[in-house]
Amino acid sequence: MGMGTFERLESSVRSYCRAFPVVFASASGATLVDEEGREYLDFLSGAGALNYGHNPPRMRRAMIEYLQAGGVLHGLDLATPAKRRFLERFEEVILRPRGMSCRVQFPGPTGTNAVEAALKLARKATGRQTVAFFANAYHGMTLGALAVSGNAAKRRAAGVPLAHALSLPFDGDLGPGVDSLDVFEHVLGNPGSGVELPAAVIVETVQAEGGVRVAGAGWLRRLERIAREHGIVLIVDDVQVGCGRTGAFFSFEEAGIRPDLVCLSKSISGAGLPMSLVLIRPDLDVWEPGEHNGTFRGNNLAFVTAAEALSYWEDDALSREVERKGRRIGERLAEMAACCPGARAHVRGRGLIRGLFCGEPGVAAEVSRQAFARGLVVETAGPRGEVLKLLPPLTVSDEEVERALDIVAESLAAALAKTGVPAGENAGGGAPDTRLAPPARAG
Ligand code: PMP
Repeated sequence: MGMGTFERLESSVRSYCRAFPVVFASASGATLVDEEGREYLDFLSGAGALNYGHNPPRMRRAMIEYLQAGGVLHGLDLATPAKRRFLERFEEVILRPRGMSCRVQFPGPTGTNAVEAALKLARKATGRQTVAFFANAYHGMTLGALAVSGNAAKRRAAGVPLAHALSLPFDGDLGPGVDSLDVFEHVLGNPGSGVELPAAVIVETVQAEGGVRVAGAGWLRRLERIAREHGIVLIVDDVQVGCGRTGAFFSFEEAGIRPDLVCLSKSISGAGLPMSLVLIRPDLDVWEPGEHNGTFRGNNLAFVTAAEALSYWEDDALSREVERKGRRIGERLAEMAACCPGARAHVRGRGLIRGLFCGEPGVAAEVSRQAFARGLVVETAGPRGEVLKLLPPLTVSDEEVERALDIVAESLAAALAKTGVPAGENAGGGAPDTRLAPPARAG
């Protein structure tokens, strides 16, 4: 019992288990249960890998049937009925209704593998090297993905220079009156800028790890226009906010843009199993066979659950639920923001990714600690960990939402008392800004 074994044997690189130091033994829906039988509401959702909650019954059933039938389990990219069913269902439920004709690449099983593959493919297809990205982006920990991520500590851990990347300001970074894409257009249009034409630009429509920072639809459309005009491959990293997190299946649908490459992972398997993919505009599929290889590119159990998960997207019922519950969370967080110190406290997010920017550094981390003590798992985001990030399963019940928000409210009050920050300074401070983040530097 306890954390002793992990502290003794597991590398000091372990992370989430430090913030939530209990041993989780079982789980169902939005509930985690620890070894001592204590229950927690899970508003971390496996960092976005559990959009349908823990152990969704229909996916468990499908896995058990597959195992009992002796289906192929190993993960090489041999053709299997499980992979065929996933591909056919993905085409039928996701691609065709959206008029998307894409090739599907299965890279290694994690989000960073999908990003790495997309970056390599964009470079190969264009013959160029640089990839543009946005401040506070998070695209993963392999060297290519890290080079286009903002977090300073994680970049330092690379141990080598991170090259061939161009950092740009994200939507809102240059203040309310300035469209930050002016910078991109300026460097592209000026032969003296010293910036080579990039192969690609990679963007998260909502920077999740970066602090729940939402890109405006108009900003995304302008980014698409710039990319098209200059022949730059547009990559949307939908690893965390795809698969319905913002309402529609793809986070970029609201803006009506058509990325050239899309990275999906986390919730694509539907049950938290490792799986990722890249959607490729067909003419960009210039890979030679095996040119981006790997042993674990065909997780058959994940294909089984992923095919099941697609049933959620046969109509728009779940999307509407995500939007409704998201609005409710936004409203209640806005009431709490009014109690947060400093005029900058506000709510961010879309759908069921919501952030409470807590003003003073340290407050959000203390709220997370207090919430955990009260039975809620919720983490922080942003370059200074200044945002409390709420990421419930999309299937969370109304009662669970209210219970979690009651805990957040109590935890916020306790955190403000503990950190000595006076509550209520921002009371009545006007409508919360649910879209635009205040200026923030790359972490
Ligand atoms: N891209 C985004 C937007 C992410 O949020 C993450 C993970 N937080 C990744 C890529 C990397 O995914 P993974 O941790 O599975 O490598």
